[in-house]
Parts: sequence; C-alpha cells; structure tokens
Amino acid sequence: MNLTMVKKVLLDGSPCGKCAQAEDILRKRGLWDKIDDVVIAEEGNPESPGMKLAAKHGIDLAPFFIVRESSGEHRVYTRVFDFIKKELTSSPTPGISKFDASEAAERFKGLNPDQILADAQKAFGQNLALAFSGAEDVVLIDMASKNGQPFQVFSLDTGRLHPETYGYLDTVRDHYKIDIEIFTPDSMLLQNFVSVKGLSSFYQDGHRECCGIRKVEPLKRALEGRLAWATGLRRDQSPATRSDLVHVELDQSHRNADGEPLIKVNPLLDWTGQDVWDYIRINNVPYNPLHDQGYRSIGCQPCTRPSRPGEHERAARWWWENETKRECGLHT
Ligand code: SF4
Repeated sequence: MNLTMVKKVLLDGSPCGKCAQAEDILRKRGLWDKIDDVVIAEEGNPESPGMKLAAKHGIDLAPFFIVRESSGEHRVYTRVFDFIKKELTSSPTPGISKFDASEAAERFKGLNPDQILADAQKAFGQNLALAFSGAEDVVLIDMASKNGQPFQVFSLDTGRLHPETYGYLDTVRDHYKIDIEIFTPDSMLLQNFVSVKGLSSFYQDGHRECCGIRKVEPLKRALEGRLAWATGLRRDQSPATRSDLVHVELDQSHRNADGEPLIKVNPLLDWTGQDVWDYIRINNVPYNPLHDQGYRSIGCQPCTRPSRPGEHERAARWWWENETKRECGLHT
C-alpha cells in the first residue's frame, strides 16, 4: 500500500495553511512517517504533479490523500481525520476490539494510577490521548513521561481561560518537552452564539449552551481518529455527578472509525484531592499558579471563583447553578 499526501503551494509561493495544519496533526500523532510520498500542487500551474493528481481524481481541495493498493485499487480522502480514521488507526496497536473493557475494569481495581495508565498506553499506543486541563491531568502527564511509552496530549482552549492558565499550558509544554494539541471552538458556531446571546448568557440560562460550543464540540474533534482517552477524573470531585464512575468505561458519546464507543480510562478515580497534591509536591510537578490564590477546581475565568473555606471544590464552578448540573458536558 502506498500513501500520498498532496499539498498545495499558493501563487505567492507560500504553503497552504490547511495543508500545514494537516501535516502538523499527522506529526503530532506520530503518523507522519506512514506517508510514503508528498506531492506538491502549485496553484496556477496545471502541469505541476499535484495539480495533475487533483485533475485526475476530480479534487479541488487541498490537502488530499491518495491510498493506492498493490492491486491498483485506490481511495481518496479530503479530510485528514477521515484519512487517519480509515487508514491509519489500526496499526501498530492491537485495536479496540481486543481490549476488553469489563475485564480491564476488574483488573484495574487493585492497581495504582501509574500502572493503570501504563496498561492503557501499552494497549492503545498513539491512539490513546491524555486530556489536559488541570492538576490531575498533569499528574497523568508526569506519570506518562516517566514510564517511557509514547503518549499524546490535547487541551481545549475555550477562549475564556485565565491568563494564568494559558501561561500554565506553556509551562507544562516546556517542562515535559511535549506537544500539546490545542482545540478551539468552531468559529462559525461561536460567532453565531455570541452575536445572538452575548458573552455572558450562562449567568441567565445556564452554562450548557456555551460549554457545548466551547468545550463539547471541540472535544469531539479532539477525539476523532482515536481509540481511547485518559482523564484525571476523581470520584470525590463531585459526589453528585461522579460517584458511579469506574476506571474503564465505554464512552458512548464518542465513537471510533468502526462506530464502537471509545475507551475512556480514569486512572486517578480512587485518589483524593490530597493524594493528587501529595504527588505534585513530592514529584515537583508544575501546577497552575491560580491554586496559590485560593482556586481549587479551575475552569473558565467567568465560571470559576476562588474556593471559600470549608466548601467542596466544585462549589466554586458555576456556583449560581444547582449542584447536580455542575458538569461541563465533557464527561456525560
Ligand atoms: S465554563 Fe463558562 S465560559 Fe467556559 S465554556 Fe462553560 S459556560 Fe462558557
């Protein structure tokens, strides 16, 4: 099988932005080496090799990907995530069908978080993504960076984070020398939403709609082409919404290329907040400076306040709403 990526070069000689973005995604997911050939389509030059391929396959977008079988059969993709899902996710890892979530949930009961994470990394390799936002997540990054296995990290930039949180993202990137793939809201969805409802509608009619656009939809894109993801969820973060969680679950909200639920791994489920902070201090793990200003659970700036003495950590998130509704929709 031969995999070709066709990239465009614009009339002024500059590279096409979408092509660069697609290449970046492939590189960050450790898939770039699977591309056999890169062919350039020169804008305005129909004789360039890439433009000839575009004409041959009836494509007027860039980039695009051509998969040629030795039999002569070929397939063409114009979306990098489709290409990844259909052609690149089955190897070198064993695939989701060979991972028994029920068996793993039983097995993980007696294991430490670092053992659970390492087990999941072994099973899914580059197809496992670590979701990064807060203190718990950086503990997972620290564990993954120490076990020697490859791992991928993504984060959701809602556009409403504290300046300290943006700085913290860079701190973690530099500290562990890793790439953090950032997913932002869909610009049209966001533009329509804020044009009609403004920037603070969540104080009036709840956070679901804003979180849906700024978090839930980007998460769907972040998980496209994956088989599994790992979170820093802890059971004691929210007795009202997280008491029934298990170490491994089938994530019915997100599907792999075969239409099966993604595997969601929660290595820190049995840890308390104290366990997390003990780990951070013992291992010199970088943390968000907002924690030193009284913030315990940190989300978007307008929806997070410092914790008051004696209150539960989630009480400082969407504090104007009922306790049972204090989830952003990422884990429902
Ligand atoms: S936490 Fe607040 S600002 Fe952030 S996405 Fe949700 S509602 Fe919007």
